[in-house]
Amino acid sequence: MGGKVKEQLNCDILICGAGLAGLSLAYRALKKGIWQRERIIIVDPIVKRENDKTWSFWQKTSGDFDDLIYKSWPRLLVFSNSGEEIPLNTGSYCYHSIRSVDFYEHVLAYLTSLENVQFLNERIVTLTSDHDCCRADTEYHTIKSVFAFNSIYKKPKLTNTAQYFLQHFKGVVIESSEVTMNKDVAYLMDYRTSQEHGTTFFYTLPLGSGKLFVEYTLFSKSLLDQVSYDQAISTYIKDILKLKKYKITHTEFGIIPMTDHQFERKHGNIINIGTIGGDTRGATGYTFTNVQKTISRILSSWKASEKPLPIKEGINAKQRMYDAILLNVLDDERYKGHELFCDLFRNAPADYIFKFLDAESSLSEDLRIILSLKPLPFVKALVKVAYSKLMQ
Ligand SMILES: Cc1cc2nc3c(=O)[nH]c(=O)nc-3n(C[C@H](O)[C@H](O)[C@H](O)COP(=O)(O)OP(=O)(O)OC[C@H]3O[C@@H](n4cnc5c(N)ncnc54)[C@H](O)[C@@H]3O)c2cc1C
Repeated sequence: MGGKVKEQLNCDILICGAGLAGLSLAYRALKKGIWQRERIIIVDPIVKRENDKTWSFWQKTSGDFDDLIYKSWPRLLVFSNSGEEIPLNTGSYCYHSIRSVDFYEHVLAYLTSLENVQFLNERIVTLTSDHDCCRADTEYHTIKSVFAFNSIYKKPKLTNTAQYFLQHFKGVVIESSEVTMNKDVAYLMDYRTSQEHGTTFFYTLPLGSGKLFVEYTLFSKSLLDQVSYDQAISTYIKDILKLKKYKITHTEFGIIPMTDHQFERKHGNIINIGTIGGDTRGATGYTFTNVQKTISRILSSWKASEKPLPIKEGINAKQRMYDAILLNVLDDERYKGHELFCDLFRNAPADYIFKFLDAESSLSEDLRIILSLKPLPFVKALVKVAYSKLMQ
């Protein structure tokens, strides 16, 4: 009795989740003159005002968010667990970072100025698609739309053989007058830390003016307690970076799934984008570039047919197979993650590796990468992956 009557809203395009994927899609579509007549509703319970993430990615051409790049590094290094310095041959790629706060501010300033875009700061409880209509329910509204783009992440139901690693990390920005690191060189993977919890490395980016971004990253199946991240960061700063006095000015914590689970791209008129749509590369957790590529495909399709589909997948069956094999090798632990990634960067040119991770490499380039690694663990993992696929 007396149940609250929800207000019904109707739109053409419903965007569920205003994070990287949802906002990139809306921004890029409208900037390109697509969806000017459509009514768009964007739903997210959180009003993004803080720098909750720093998105880094390699790139050799230009991108839609280049104006937002906070810092770039033309040179990259990897350090092995024993301290060997491995310079990366990045060819024409450059490594960039975008702070999420700059992205949110820029994108939201544009989108909130448009009359056909409405923001709802509410949590979507259910999202369904029936024939040509999608329906989302929040506590206060029922929203009906023709298409819905969903980036709300839920851990999927996994098969018995699926791998599900967590890439978990704590990152800090520190300021110190003792910083001597070359501002043009970033440490992509610095394994000079204990490997007792799985594949563990520091990711260290000089930001200039005595500032460093230092991130403690692990690939494993369970999280650590918060104190352990802090202790590892403090030890690394003191023992490896040799900084005695420093001040932490920013902290971020994150978890990215690294899995060979095949995410569903489409369900009726709901199109999944971002991590839930399979845009996170299983072997690395990198997502930014894949999200932008997926959006490019969605927008090309819309221009051609006024429909966001079909989407040719960037991370296709071949790449998913490679990721599944790599995750099985990591799981087996006979080829330790730190040795594997150092062998990879020592023996294969980094520009080939970036091309491979961007799903743009040819079979012969893939082979060069595969041959840079110890073969036996990969053959065993290949047999395991092939067997599990047969059993599905
Ligand atoms: C701290 C951190 C750092 C990262 N750094 C990098 C990096 O350097 N490079 C890289 O390539 N990738 C990185 N990633 C991975 C990936 O790029 C990000 O996770 C990225 O934000 C994924 O985009 P998304 O749109 O799928 O998810 P999100 O950006 O998380 O957006 C999802 C949105 O959905 C909203 N939401 C959740 N539940 C609901 C609900 N019920 N109703 C409505 N809205 C809801 C959330 O509030 C959020 O805004 C990082 C991830 C994290 C967590």
